[in-house]
Amino acid sequence: MTNAKASRAAPPLTHAAGDTRAMLIYRLLGEAYGIRPWVPRREPLHELISTMLSHRTTGANEAKAFTQLWSKFGSWEAIAAADPADIAIAIAPANFAEAKAPRIKAVLQQIIAERGAPTIDFLGGLSPEAGLAWLERLPGVGPKTASLVLLFCFHQPVLPVDTHVHRVSGRIGLIGPKVNAEQAHTLLAAQLPLDADVLWNFHLNMLRHGQRICVWERPRCEDCTLREHCDYAQARQRQ
Ligand code: SF4
Repeated sequence: MTNAKASRAAPPLTHAAGDTRAMLIYRLLGEAYGIRPWVPRREPLHELISTMLSHRTTGANEAKAFTQLWSKFGSWEAIAAADPADIAIAIAPANFAEAKAPRIKAVLQQIIAERGAPTIDFLGGLSPEAGLAWLERLPGVGPKTASLVLLFCFHQPVLPVDTHVHRVSGRIGLIGPKVNAEQAHTLLAAQLPLDADVLWNFHLNMLRHGQRICVWERPRCEDCTLREHCDYAQARQRQ
């Protein structure tokens, strides 16, 4: 673990108490896609490793890579002890397997060394800030992966910003054009309430919207429920 990463202070998370434009977007997307009760997704360490595998990889290939990894090694301890080249072969369906393999090994080695067992269940007892700071010390773990683990496994009020959430938020104008995905985590969360259910549904519905309507190449603004509240659509209309 690098000292620079280990010494990073946990920034205090801020959230909006009143009504905001982000809450209007949340409600409109809720009408379009539904608001669901939170349910935990995967066992926390599985979530962490699968999210590392998912970087620039489709969901199907992420799942295939994890299945092959577990079939080959059968335990977290065995993966932590394995040659990175063998891990890379097992996770080959994921893109950048050669880069991901040594990070996955290092993450598991560090967790086992620090916690005495391959588990991160203790994160459920930490504050969101402390949980994010602990996870982001790990090699290859940034705000998106750390937030996903805390929100999806522990119902903590943090907001993961993936490529879809980042793109859609930027087009709407919730974040500025120069705000990168890492910075967007705190800037977007600050416009939403301290409520894991809201943050979970906001994340999932922005992701759905980015996959179905506000797609990367040609956003389908004519079919979009957000067009009256979207900077991109309004600017396009004026042209
Ligand atoms: S109006 Fe267009 S750019 Fe704006 S969110 Fe909808 S699809 Fe995306």
